[in-house]
Amino acid sequence: MSERNDDFITYELQEFKLFEPLFRWARKKSLWIVAFCTGCGGIEMPPLFTARYDIERFGMMPNPSPRMADLFLITGYVTPKTLKRIIITYEMIPDPKYIIAHGSCPINGGVYWDSYNVVKQLDKYIPIDVAIAGCMPRPEAVMDGIQEIMRKIESGEADGWKRYRENYEWYRKNQDELFGEGWRERDARRWLAWI
Ligand code: SF4
Repeated sequence: MSERNDDFITYELQEFKLFEPLFRWARKKSLWIVAFCTGCGGIEMPPLFTARYDIERFGMMPNPSPRMADLFLITGYVTPKTLKRIIITYEMIPDPKYIIAHGSCPINGGVYWDSYNVVKQLDKYIPIDVAIAGCMPRPEAVMDGIQEIMRKIESGEADGWKRYRENYEWYRKNQDELFGEGWRERDARRWLAWI
């Protein structure tokens, strides 16, 4: 069954290869965002969507469901507990999908570089396409990052979703080293007890 599905996907991709530039152009013009408002960056999100900076003019819109989004914003420091939710949310977003990380914390831990409870290098666990440095970056810098991801989508350089598929074993190994093997099942069991 899975073999048939794989063949079907390959066939579809080959069939539409000619239209790929058109698809990329359409994708960059209509990015729907699922925002994971971690860290201080949660405060910087509303100005982006409202009248002063207004990223809706780029065709972008916030969306609460990962199933309908293609751009994942991670807006600041990430704790291991939050990272589990980030990984699960990322895996629920359909391909092709892109990640922008705001602020210094997701890049190298930022001011929390020596904290026991902050992830120091987010791209060991999920693939980041654009990182915006700053603590916290100004909305203009975030918009600059958005322009960069649009450029990368159009040129085909925004390939984090492909890297995640191709190097899944490596990402999975890093995740398991941090959380311990079987963390997904353990977490699911923990939540079931509350239902
Ligand atoms: S980079 Fe600075 S503003 Fe952003 S989450 Fe870290 S401490 Fe907060």
